[in-house]
Amino acid sequence: MTGPLDVLGVPGEINLDYAASAPCLRAAADAVTGLLPWYASVHRGAGALSAHCTLAYERARQTIGDFFGARTDDHVIVTRNTTDALNLLARALPAGTTVVTFAGEHHANLLPWPTGTVRLPVPDSPAAAVRTLDAALRELRRGPAGRATDRPVLVAVTGASNVTGECWPVAALARQAHRHGARIVVDAAQLAPHVPVDLAALDVDYLAVSGHKLYAPFGAGVLIGRADWLDAAPPYLAGGGATGHVGDATHDVRWATGPGRHEAGTPNLLGTVALAAVCTALAEADRAALHAREQALLTRLRTGLAALPEVVDLRTFGADAERVGIVSFVVAGRDSAEIAATLAREHRIGVRDGLFCAHPLARRLLAEAAARTGRRDLPPTALRVSFGLGSTADQVDRLLDALAAIVRPSGPARRQPAP
Ligand code: PMP
Repeated sequence: MTGPLDVLGVPGEINLDYAASAPCLRAAADAVTGLLPWYASVHRGAGALSAHCTLAYERARQTIGDFFGARTDDHVIVTRNTTDALNLLARALPAGTTVVTFAGEHHANLLPWPTGTVRLPVPDSPAAAVRTLDAALRELRRGPAGRATDRPVLVAVTGASNVTGECWPVAALARQAHRHGARIVVDAAQLAPHVPVDLAALDVDYLAVSGHKLYAPFGAGVLIGRADWLDAAPPYLAGGGATGHVGDATHDVRWATGPGRHEAGTPNLLGTVALAAVCTALAEADRAALHAREQALLTRLRTGLAALPEVVDLRTFGADAERVGIVSFVVAGRDSAEIAATLAREHRIGVRDGLFCAHPLARRLLAEAAARTGRRDLPPTALRVSFGLGSTADQVDRLLDALAAIVRPSGPARRQPAP
């Protein structure tokens, strides 16, 4: 039996690398296939096909906005991915904005921000994150030489870490930011695939999401959030579709307001429609049941890993933190890239190895793991296992068996976990 929450895959291949790019949801593939015969220009043609595509694009924008709890005065801007969305916001900051972020961010949420960005140390608990932010914003508001300042401040945080899978206290951080008159953007690349994310409910100002991590095919993401900064900023891309009027003189351009201001060029119709189809399928799903299922897989994986004495997990917030389906770890005395290659070659299991585009965080966690365990033989890079819709207990068990075989080739077989 097939259903809208099925994901596409290749028989025999086990994909445990959803955090990099999740497989495509059947509902997304069906939406794309259904639209292909209608393929024509968006916002640029008078024909029936073109009108159909324009409507499909704008409806998709609405669906995505609704799914993420966009408020009536928010813009939903289609981007290439989360990186693109955060870069767009970085270019739209009012002059003099200070950005405050944490060192535990993915590079996409560390590197786009302007010189002078405050990078706070990685906290060791969600409560510490809120306290650290409070102190930093208080200090910023005090201003240089004690002169109070009301210059714009943007807090940029992740919703869930792509390295540890740990969830950040987004609502509490948003409250703290607003208490100090700051705005907040949440990098929801890893949170959105696992739990409902509602901008209005969380009282978050901006949200960045990647379609390819949310079961849509590659190519579309979104930046959703407050219209005022976005409408006042220079267009992210200059070109057709972003203008109201273009005169003969080079400076004679009136840029559009609204999402189109930052979407110059022919838009990504199929990517946007696919992402909207995922939103519709997830909105109709029992998210609590999906979450419970995923948490059971997570427990199975973490229990199995903990039973392998050579495995050391990477974490920021402690063993009991709220997590999504992402776990990173190292195997003492073993090279992570070699283990990932063996998993792929001999077991047809795909995981990720490296520092996961979060180098400051991954380095810190590796040092912390060495200090916690007292081991001096931890490798300099890590392994990451991540999953979601379509992942099964059998896949997790096969990974654990494969790891046990790699780690202790002649040792006892792994203890069978409880069914
Ligand atoms: N933020 C986080 C937390 C991520 O995990 C990723 C992707 N690994 C990104 C941002 C960037 O996403 P993309 O490559 O789709 O732009």
